[in-house]
Parts: sequence; structure tokens; C-alpha cells
Amino acid sequence: MVPPAARLGQIPPYLFGELARARAKAKAEGRDLIDLGIGDPDQPTPGPILDALTRAAHDPATHRYDESDAGWPPFLASVARWYGRRFGVELDPNSEVLLLIGSKEGLAHLAWAYIDPGDLALVPDPAYTVYKMNTLLAGGDVHGMPLRAENGFLPVLEEIPEVIADHARLLYLNYPNNPTGATAPLEFFTKVVEFARRHHLIVCHDCAYSEVYFDGYRPPSFLQAPGAKEVGIEIHSVSKTFNMTGWRVGFAVGNPEVLQALNRLKSNIDSKQFPAVDRAAAYALDTWTEDRETLRLYQRRRDILVSGLNRLGWNLEPPKATFYVWAPVRPGYTSAEFAKLLLERAGILVAPGNGYGEYGEGYVRMALTVSGDKNGERLEEAVDRLASALS
Ligand code: PMP
Repeated sequence: MVPPAARLGQIPPYLFGELARARAKAKAEGRDLIDLGIGDPDQPTPGPILDALTRAAHDPATHRYDESDAGWPPFLASVARWYGRRFGVELDPNSEVLLLIGSKEGLAHLAWAYIDPGDLALVPDPAYTVYKMNTLLAGGDVHGMPLRAENGFLPVLEEIPEVIADHARLLYLNYPNNPTGATAPLEFFTKVVEFARRHHLIVCHDCAYSEVYFDGYRPPSFLQAPGAKEVGIEIHSVSKTFNMTGWRVGFAVGNPEVLQALNRLKSNIDSKQFPAVDRAAAYALDTWTEDRETLRLYQRRRDILVSGLNRLGWNLEPPKATFYVWAPVRPGYTSAEFAKLLLERAGILVAPGNGYGEYGEGYVRMALTVSGDKNGERLEEAVDRLASALS
């Protein structure tokens, strides 16, 4: 058999593929697994959005290719309206919004649109793996920006050597952050804009978790920082906001030139998604209000898990946003060893932190999106099991 392209040899298998295999194996063995591995909203998509999909699916106009340039124009207009309502930032739907097949697709293709062999991207470490893997696949190099607890898991821009910053073309950021659960204040984004201007960089801010927040906190958008539209784009998703991960709808907003470059690449690769899905997503954005019920459920799970871990000797601050708890491992273990111990002794699946980068070593990520949990009882069970496994 002909081997795959050499570039595929540069990257490991997708992290969550391995987690899914571990989960399938434990299930096949008949174990009652508590899955804190993959972060995927466990609550159903709201009924009115399903109804909007049904209506759109019955319209034969949605059975054809979406031949629009950057996405169905009413969808782009809905995005601009939502963005204005949520962040107070005005967007031109004709040039500053681009439909994506989920945010992962846009984040990945941005690297292909801007990185030639030998080019450099600045990527947080730890991070969602898509930024780094696609930079490598495109033949580029990655300069990791360490996210450390003592800096609130924000990169220290001053630490990046001038020659590296000058050589880099792209800077990826993600707040609220996966995997650390950290948030970034608007002042940080303002500093990023100055940094990008000085070093002639494109900023891509992944804002997939903007609507998963607690305790009255509301994450800012990158485009709220003065001048942000001149240097970059922000990528959003309906996945977490409306419990729609499987639907594959996201959008990029911001600098028109960057969006055009991304669209030029995309239009040669994909033909957009089923148009009925965009119409349902437009309905979701137009009728958006804070999803209090889901947020209350995540918050309850967060509080049970964080206070339970703290009773067992951890010293964690509850995250203000995202559905992740980023917990240091017990001394003497690596991330992988600790994850294995939790799986074997407690039947709890977590994501080992080293899967997110070198600086993720020494941590595990626990996702609060536990299927079958109605009101925190599976998290209580998880804490009990942890207490016995670690005693
Ligand atoms: N960005 C981050 C940081 C994520 O964690 C995820 C999903 N886990 C995504 C983007 C992708 O989301 P989607 O493609 O469903 O929009």
C-alpha cells in the first residue's frame, strides 16, 4: 500500500481518538465509567432550534449548494446582530463575517492560508491541539508560549524573543481557555493588539467558550480591544453556546483581508454545510438569551468537583468560564500515569495534560459535560471514588 504523505508522520494521532478508545474499552468490559474526558455539552439542543431546522429542511432551497460567497447572507446578518448585542462591537456582515463548518475547521484552515514551509506561528502551550498540528502540517514551525499558573495561564508576551516575534506570521490565543479554564481581561487583548502591530502579526483569537461562564462574569471579545480588527480575527462557535456540537456551525469575524484569504482557501476545499443548518443557527443567534439552565447545571457540577478535590488536598480556584477543571496531578506522577490511575482505580476518565503540550505535563483536565448527570450526582460519585482511590 502506498504510505500516506510524509507530513502526516509529523503529527500524533488526534488526542481525543485515544480517549474515545479508552472509553470504548472500559464500556466493553462492562465498567461504570465516569467520563470527564472529552468536553462535549451533554444537554440537548433546545427544541425551538430543532423546529427551525425542521422548517428549513422542508424548504427545497436548502437542498442545494450554498453558492453564496461567505455564507448565507441572513446568517451573516444574524451573526453581526448577535455580536453587537453581546459585545457591543459593530460588524459589517458583508465583509467582516465568514461562515465556518464549526470553529475547528476555521482554526485549522487559517494555518493553511497563512503558513508556508518554514513560516512560524506563536501557539499557546498547553492548548487545543488544532493550532499547532495544522501549522506543522502546513510545513510551518511552532513557537510555544508557555501558559503558567503563576501568570494566570496568560502568555507573557515580553518573554517571546524579538527575532521570533518578528519572524512569526500568526499568533493563536484562546480565552476562555481550553484546557486551563483561565480567562483573559480586555487589557490583555489590548496589549496583544500592540504586540501584533509592532511585530506585524495576524492574531487569531479562538472564542469558542465565550458563553460558558459563571458567577456573573462575562468574557470579553478580542474585537473589543481598540484596533483589534486591524490585526486579526476572532473565531466563534454555536457548539457550546447552544449545545450544537454535532451540527458543525461556526463563524469567523474581524479583519476582512484575513477572512478573504481564509475563504479563498475554504472555497477550494469545502462547499459549506447543509444550508438548513445555517438557517437554524441564525434562528438560534437571533433568539439568543443566556442559557441559564445549562450554566446553572455546569456551575453545580463545577462546585461539587472543585470543593471535593479541595477536600482531598487540592487547592483549586473554581474556573470563571469554560466547562473544564485543570488540576495538578498528585506528586510523583506524570499526567499519563495519574490519568491511568484514575481510570483503573476509580473508573474516571480524564484527559492527561501533556496531550495539550509540554507545559500541560503535571496536570489533568476534567470536563464537566458528564452524560447522564442530572444534577451533579455523577460528580458527587466521582469525588467519592477519588477519595477511595487516593486514600
Ligand atoms: N476551540 C476550542 C478551544 C475547543 O475546545 C473546541 C472544541 N472542543 C473548538 C474550538 C472546536 O469547536 P467546534 O468545531 O465544535 O466549533
